Amino acid sequence: MRDWTVNCKDGSRKTIQFRYRAIGDHHALLYWDVTERRRLDEELRRAAETDPLTGVSDRRRFFALAADALAEGAATGRPLSLLMVDIDHFKSINDRFGHAAGDEVLRTTARRLAEAVRLENTVGRLGGEEFAVLLPGLGGPAAATVAERLRTVAADPPVEIGGTRIAVRISVGGVAHAGGPAGLDALLERADRALYDAKRTGRDRVVFAEPEL
Ligand code: GH3
Ligand code: MG
Ligand code: MG
Repeated sequence: MRDWTVNCKDGSRKTIQFRYRAIGDHHALLYWDVTERRRLDEELRRAAETDPLTGVSDRRRFFALAADALAEGAATGRPLSLLMVDIDHFKSINDRFGHAAGDEVLRTTARRLAEAVRLENTVGRLGGEEFAVLLPGLGGPAAATVAERLRTVAADPPVEIGGTRIAVRISVGGVAHAGGPAGLDALLERADRALYDAKRTGRDRVVFAEPEL
């Protein structure tokens, strides 16, 4: 049993399943319309992969896409870059303006990041106020340009909530992979370390991991 996509006379498309039965001398073709069920399946699948607060990919989906991109890079030799983004002093945004305002800052920041990159560049929320951006096909210099752009769009203009302007700054840790085989965990760890360096050396900045030897 499998799904079939059929074009109907009225121009619509339906997803159906059918089963063939021989009953004595008679042949019966039973079919049923699963269009709505499949649409719901897809909607659920999407919802399950989306971070409910911000609407960007959730952690699981981000890592799955990153693993796919890495496998493709290993096969084709195409470069790939990865950015870790963390909002600076986010705790004090919560403390000063309240948790709801913090949530709004997260939503706005996620949207700004997503709008500043191409569609094939996945933005994910890894958790809390930490995001990651996958840049397939981009080497170090191009990824650094994107990272600086993200830093700019996240900060400008300030996020305005109920007449209050909230200054938002982000730190970015980047890693560029030239192509060929690489482990996702190793890349993430290098990006994480670069992010840590960005925090340690003053925040509101982009730091890239040293190229692999
Ligand atoms: P740093 O510059 O070093 O990154 O400092 P920080 O304050 O941004 O980092 P820290 O990890 O100390 O604080 C993160 C805060 O994010 C703490 C937590 O309460 C808050 N947080 C995590 N998830 C959410 C959320 O979904 N909504 C809101 N409003 N706050 C969240
Ligand atoms: Mg932070
Ligand atoms: Mg953090």
